[in-house]
Amino acid sequence: MDKVDVIVAGAGPVGLVAANVLADAGCSVVLLEVEDTLPTNLRASTFQSVTLDLLEPFGVNDKLINMGVISPIMQYRDRKGWVAEFDFAVLKNDTHYPYRVQCEQFKLCELLVERLKTKPNAKVIYSARAQSVTQDDHGVDVEAQIAGKTEHLKGKWLIAADGGRSLLRASVGVKLEGFTWPERYLVASTTFDFPSVMPGLSTVSYFADPDEWYFLLKVPDMWRCMFPIGEHEKDDVVLSDEDIQRRLQRVYPKSTPYDIKHRTIYSVHQRVAERYRVGRTFLAGDAAHLNNPLGGMGMNGGIHDAFAISERLAGVLTGKLGESALDGYERERRPVALHYVDKISTANKRNLETKDPAEQKAWRDLMDKTARDPELARQYLARVSMIESIRQSKAAA
Ligand SMILES: Cc1cc2nc3c(=O)[nH]c(=O)nc-3n(C[C@H](O)[C@H](O)[C@H](O)COP(=O)(O)OP(=O)(O)OC[C@H]3O[C@@H](n4cnc5c(N)ncnc54)[C@H](O)[C@@H]3O)c2cc1C
Repeated sequence: MDKVDVIVAGAGPVGLVAANVLADAGCSVVLLEVEDTLPTNLRASTFQSVTLDLLEPFGVNDKLINMGVISPIMQYRDRKGWVAEFDFAVLKNDTHYPYRVQCEQFKLCELLVERLKTKPNAKVIYSARAQSVTQDDHGVDVEAQIAGKTEHLKGKWLIAADGGRSLLRASVGVKLEGFTWPERYLVASTTFDFPSVMPGLSTVSYFADPDEWYFLLKVPDMWRCMFPIGEHEKDDVVLSDEDIQRRLQRVYPKSTPYDIKHRTIYSVHQRVAERYRVGRTFLAGDAAHLNNPLGGMGMNGGIHDAFAISERLAGVLTGKLGESALDGYERERRPVALHYVDKISTANKRNLETKDPAEQKAWRDLMDKTARDPELARQYLARVSMIESIRQSKAAA
């Protein structure tokens, strides 16, 4: 295979966004995906308004929104009936999409891979594990296992979007600094119609509780319910019908068992790569940063990385930008992961779980006050919807 402009590793949302931007700009791009087909496991399901703004030029938003649930309202609640409600409509002058969309991330991936198939300058190779990279001043050489054979692919640049366990990050010797929380999270999904018994429940609802916080998010066919699990709880117990029923019965006690469609446990990290660029290799998405899911920022931040690096690379490859523009990628995106996302997602966790009555009261009072004042609510929602992060990071670059 001839040397391509950009090799992208990983056909998750981040790799697929990057490959589409590059292909649209006329660059040649090869996307390597280790699985033999697009992964369809249930992971992120929150699309922030600013992400939809960025995705607009791809022309996939109508389909994505139709396959998902529009969430115009976000609520903070507790188990005793306290509710602070935020209406995303206050963002109408900040975004074309003043709401959140709840839709499984693989549906975006499917739309983007279909789009990529129409581009003669783009190629997706499945069953292709990008294992390592060597590079010099002129390009990269990616060693990949493709359908069981070792091959070397040559490119001018590499985007490593190969997820949290990135082999390419390890290959360029970059550490993912930070820590892993001692507790893990359980996501259990059920078709039970919570609003029928919790009137006014919004499709994005976070419940603060000192013993066991949880959140309820609606995707088209199910409600996803997330709970923290203790450090010493065993997976087989946590995933058992009995244990999941117990947790769901605490959300709403009912006489019949919940219908459980899906269950998974996952570890939660606050980690950021010490560098986002090594020579001609750029880290993006989970390969560059991991954070707890409270606030729905992981995939969104990754998609924002994908635009930031692929637009720069496209500019350099088409002669519109000098190579020095590439230095701005890390300056623009790493502080967002390190300070902005880390701070908000950690605060969200703390606010939901705190056992300190003074902290509980202070946060609830603040949320009540913010929700009542349209300008404070707008500023708050611009921050948690990541609109502010895009503005700040572009200014920093
Ligand atoms: C349960 C759960 C819920 C979540 N909820 C949210 C949410 O609501 N909102 C949000 O913003 N984020 C959420 N996240 C985080 C979000 O899923 C990730 O941030 C997002 O998937 C990152 O996208 P990515 O493309 O960087 O990585 P991934 O989605 O992990 O994609 C990486 C791709 O690379 C492939 N790959 C891996 N290694 C290689 C290799 N060596 N060579 C080639 N291909 C490789 C993988 O198969 C995969 O297709 C959640 C995560 C989990 C686990």
